Order: sequence, then C-alpha cells, then structure tokens
Amino acid sequence: MALMRNITKYCNINRTFVIEYKSRGYVTSSGPPEIPKCEFEFKGYGGKNYEETKTIHGSKLSPSVRNYYSKPLLATQGRMQWVWDQNGKRYLDLFAGIVTVSVGHCHPKVNEAAQKQMESLWHTTAIYMTPPVYEFAEKLVDTMPEDLKVCIFTNSGSEANDLALMLSRVHTGAFDAISLRNGYHGAGPYSVGLTAHGTWKHRYANGFGIHHAMNADPYRGIWGGSNCRDSPVQTDRTCSCAEGHCNAADEYIGQLEETLNYSVSPKIAAFFAESIQGVGGCVQFPKGYLKRAFDLVRSRGGLCISDEVQTGFGRLGSHMWGFETHDIIPDIVTMAKGIGNGFPMGAVVTTPAIAQSLKGVLHFNTFGGNPVACAVASSVLDVMKEEQTQKHSAEIGTYFLQELEKMRGEYDVIGDVRGKGLMIGIELVSNEATRDPLVGPEYAKLFEEIKDLGVLVGNGGFHGNVLRVTPPMCVTYNDINFALSVLRYAFQAHKDCQA
Ligand code: PMP
Repeated sequence: MALMRNITKYCNINRTFVIEYKSRGYVTSSGPPEIPKCEFEFKGYGGKNYEETKTIHGSKLSPSVRNYYSKPLLATQGRMQWVWDQNGKRYLDLFAGIVTVSVGHCHPKVNEAAQKQMESLWHTTAIYMTPPVYEFAEKLVDTMPEDLKVCIFTNSGSEANDLALMLSRVHTGAFDAISLRNGYHGAGPYSVGLTAHGTWKHRYANGFGIHHAMNADPYRGIWGGSNCRDSPVQTDRTCSCAEGHCNAADEYIGQLEETLNYSVSPKIAAFFAESIQGVGGCVQFPKGYLKRAFDLVRSRGGLCISDEVQTGFGRLGSHMWGFETHDIIPDIVTMAKGIGNGFPMGAVVTTPAIAQSLKGVLHFNTFGGNPVACAVASSVLDVMKEEQTQKHSAEIGTYFLQELEKMRGEYDVIGDVRGKGLMIGIELVSNEATRDPLVGPEYAKLFEEIKDLGVLVGNGGFHGNVLRVTPPMCVTYNDINFALSVLRYAFQAHKDCQA
C-alpha cells in the first residue's frame, strides 16, 4: 500500500500499477527499501521547529541561499555516513555536504583532535608560530609529488583559487588565464571569473583576462566515444579510434589551441582545470586530454593549476590526488572541502620557486591556517591513512559504478553513468537518443523521492540533471546496496509514470 501511495503521489494521477517490486528483491514486503540499521542513536532535538526555521530562512537569509527540495531537509545531527532530521528520521548521506565530509560526520578521532586543540589555543593568525600549522603543513606536502612542497592556507576553495590566480600572474608576469566551460572554481572576485557557468554569474564585471575553452565532455560534447574515460563505465557512444588513440582528445585539444591562438596574448599566466568537474556534473575528460593541455599551456609560458577541491584526498580511489590519475604534475594545486571533513579550510600548494614570487610583498588573511582547522585537517589525514579510505573508495566506488551501469541498461532516463572511486555522476535524460536533459518537475520529483526514501544525493551539471554521489568515504557495501535499491525504486516509479 505504501508503494501504491508513493507512486500515486509521484505520478499525481489515479492509475493502477502492477509492479513486481517484491519479486525483484529490492523492497520489503511492506513497501520501499528499508534503511540499514546503524549503531548510533538520535539524541533528540529541542531547537527551533521546522516551520519557524523555514520562516527565518525566507525572511532573514538571502534568497540566493537556496535549499534543495520542495520540502527542504532540516539536518540536526550527523554521525559518519548518517544524518538525522528534527524528527529523528535518518538519511544515508551520499553527498557529504557537497563532497566535503571526507571521513564521516563527527568522526570520533577528528572530534577528539578538534576538542583537544580548542582546549589549548583557538586562534593566533600568522603573526605567531603555532604547532598545528607546521605539523599539518609537513603532513600535507608529504602527500604531494615532486616539488609541490610549499603550502599557503586559506579558508575556502574560492579563496584558494583567487590566490592561485594572483600567484600565477605575479610569477609569470602575464595576465590571461584559461579555464574550461562547465568548470566551477568558486565565487570569489577572481574565482567567479574562472567559473564557467552562466548560472553563477551576477550582472557585474568579472573574469577580466579569463577565457573559457571548450569543455572536453565525452558524453554531452561534440566528440566522445566508448573508450574515452578513466572509469569503469563508458558512454553509450560509439568509437572508431585506433588502439591507444583518442580522436575526442585530439579535437578538444584543437579547441584549446584555438583559444590560445585567438583569445589570449602569446604568453599566458595560467590554465585551471578540475581533475573531474564536480559542480559541472562529474564530467571526465578524455584520457590524455589534460596532459596534452598542460604541455600546450606550458609552451605558452602559463602555469598549470589543478583544482582538487572535490577530487583530492583519495576520493578517486586509484590515487591521492586527481591530477595523478591524469599522469600530470601541476605547478599549483588548490584544495578545500574534504581537507577539514567539514571544518572551513582551504589550501594552495605550489613549488618553492613559484612561492618565492610572493616574497617582498605581504600576503595575509586572518583565519588562514587557524590552529583548530590545522589540527582537524591533520587528524583527517591520519584517519584517511588508518582507515585506508582511498583503497576503500576505489573498491566500493567501482562496485557502485558497475551496478549503476546495469541500471542504465534498464532505465531510459539514465543517459550516462560516470566517475571514478566515490565521485559518481548519474546523468538523467528525457530522451536517450538526443540526450535531452531531464529537467523541471520530473527531475525535481525524482530528486525529492530519493530523499524521501532516505538517501541524500547531490544535483549538478549545467542543466541541473545530474545526480551526484560523493559520500563520506566510510560508506559500506550495505549502504550502497540500500542506495541502489532506493535509486531503482525511484527510477521504476518514474518509468511507470511514463507508461
Ligand atoms: N573549486 C571547486 C572544484 C569547487 O567544487 C568549489 C565549491 N563547490 C570551489 C572551488 C569553491 O570552494 P568554496 O565553496 O569552499 O569556496
């Protein structure tokens, strides 16, 4: 009956559906998939009630601060991969506060490190030395290859990218920079110019000297085939490339060359790219594209900047850093989000030679390298090592992707499944052949339904039609099987509405 209610609500029409969910083994006899048990308890909630909170949101917060869902979630407690609402309803968090809770909500070791540091010293600024900053700086650069050995701490990813652009301009003495369309690099005064989504641009001057090259998207772009991606799942496009060669990479590199020839001065300052585009909908470039792009940019005097805000810290499974999956060494790496498991922090890592360019002028921010943030980030790295979260991401992410690929074969609404490790995108379409995105109320219903069934996923892509799965790296196979059941349930309900 619960199932019927759900579908009737979903379709908003009175029809009888004969669906053998039970025989397919992904629902309980009484209805939708059951959330796995967990060892943590809801501690109760005594704060402002739901309606009051919504009223404050509507009247006291900027309208640009938009919640997901027509009935937004009021999150009141988190523990590892779980989040509870005000009534104690538990959700499996597969979005991790936008790819940020890297090792688990309120991870006990990270909590302990934060509490310990809070008892001794909260704040100094960079005018004094304080141990957690130096301990973390050493630990962080130890994870970096080659000459990437100097850190500058910031409070966010936007700030890290602003700084990276400034640094590249100061170091090269050039001004122009290039980023890729569909990339997101932040909303700061510089970084919003690097961001190449019109939806994030306000009507004021931004991006002076920044140019956007064609995105190298093997699914939605002009070129792409069945072997482009470094992923267990490929697009459903065909491919006529010779063994070991990628025509799509050739074509997209040709487009970058056009931008270099026609849009910028002969010497450029920087090229920014994510290793996998996050906000853009988990878009992966053809293999070899970034390596060739870096060569091209360097031949024009530019620095190559990897934005690892989403792809860093082992989430991609095979490597600690996303750029390593492309076999490249950037000149500057920017990071945030997962660095602090939710604690506000960011960083820029570069070479000593590039960092030297800042000598002689002051660069300062009050909170960058806050001792509590650094103690937290240090313990996050320890937990990653102890719990082997990178290896776990590789194994469990591959399993998830392979299961989703099977689902793509069953549901026309799934146009593409992509990603690597625990950075996964499921692109929804209204027409599989034309790849028209699934947008508007149909997408919104599906998205809401998944939440109501107990799973939080993200939303991304320029058209907002990509379900993003980037959980805390402590998720278990049991959780993933539950999530797969929920997705299947929601996709089936959507399919039945079309029938
Ligand atoms: N770069 C990337 C790749 C991001 O995804 C984001 C945030 N979504 C940023 C930069 C900006 O980070 P922040 O929101 O911490 O400023």
